[in-house]
Amino acid sequence: MTKIILVVLGLLLVYWILKSYRRRVDRGGDKAPPATAENMVQCERCGVHLPRSESITTQGRFYCSPEHQRAGDAERRAG
Ligand SMILES: [Zn+2]
Repeated sequence: MTKIILVVLGLLLVYWILKSYRRRVDRGGDKAPPATAENMVQCERCGVHLPRSESITTQGRFYCSPEHQRAGDAERRAG
């Protein structure tokens, strides 16, 4: 009788280990965030990163806002 109890306990232990292992794998297997960083650009003025579609482009330079575009442009013209 003791043998049966040990076997059942052993099976329960194996089941519990498998269950916790599986849960860990599930958690670790979270999908990586979608690769939206492909077209990130950096503001010439303040260095902030933003999507290219949201940036302002002037002669191959990227800015985060019209203010920074103007400031960067003025800076460039000043030398
Ligand atoms: Zn900026």
